[in-house]
Amino acid sequence: MSATYSQLLDATIQHLEALKSRGTRNVPVSPDTLRSLSQPSPLLHQKSAESPKGFGVRQSSGALESASAPTTAGLPFNVRSQVPNPQSATEKAAAFAALRERVMVCVKCEHLASSRKNVVFGVGNIDAQLMFVGEAPGADEDTQGEPFVGRAGELLTKIIQAMGLQRGDVYIANILKCRPDTPGQSSGNRKPTPDEMATCIPYLHEQIDLIRPRVLVALGATAIEGLLGKTLGIMKMRGNWQTYRGTPLMPTFHPAYLLRNQAMSEKRKVWEDMLSVMEKLEMPISEKQRNYFMRGS
Ligand code: URA
Repeated sequence: MSATYSQLLDATIQHLEALKSRGTRNVPVSPDTLRSLSQPSPLLHQKSAESPKGFGVRQSSGALESASAPTTAGLPFNVRSQVPNPQSATEKAAAFAALRERVMVCVKCEHLASSRKNVVFGVGNIDAQLMFVGEAPGADEDTQGEPFVGRAGELLTKIIQAMGLQRGDVYIANILKCRPDTPGQSSGNRKPTPDEMATCIPYLHEQIDLIRPRVLVALGATAIEGLLGKTLGIMKMRGNWQTYRGTPLMPTFHPAYLLRNQAMSEKRKVWEDMLSVMEKLEMPISEKQRNYFMRGS
């Protein structure tokens, strides 16, 4: 039995015992997972797969505004992680699925578990080189069970597309997996409390540890605080490379801030941050992308 497999098994047993001690008698498990649990894949015992080289993923064009999109179509860019991965693809997918199942039934914050419609685990490519981290689900995300699908999400999608990528090329997650409740209010959002962040952040750490992105983008002050524990403030930190456990992290403005503050100067700052991210990932950058938010353009 490989070390990783026995670690996974231990973690699963520990988790189930913790649930049992809290009175849980049943856990939802998909038929596929059940099958793979009873018959561990031989791949789980193999040494790591070779890290992928060419993936043939091509950049697509996109636009931050509805204006014409900068395009790098035709230029191949490998958006999957190139960091040597000690796990096989099967082990990684199984570990990610197991993590997801734990998060989906999480009731650590009772007040959020009882007010949520859905747990918002995360979405995208688990082999992505680039991972975006936001604050917490809002009402739309809570309803749909997917991060960044409301107005701020639409803007994030445009930003990703302007980089020549699609949402499915990157991974998107939040510090909190449940929508912060707003008792007595029928609408609106609130910032997660320090307790809620401390309770939920281990799940994000696990997601990042499994995905192993080459670059992280922290969207807004809460994401920065959650990942780095620093409170220098978004205005001072945005645009300046940081490091999260050895992974380069770019702090930038949250798309919701860009919706509140429509100034072109603020959009330009975010785009400059994304250009830095593209450079770090050695992505091709077209002239059009480079000049996208030039003064006067
Ligand atoms: N804002 C966030 O920080 N995350 C979401 O998923 C949606 C809005």
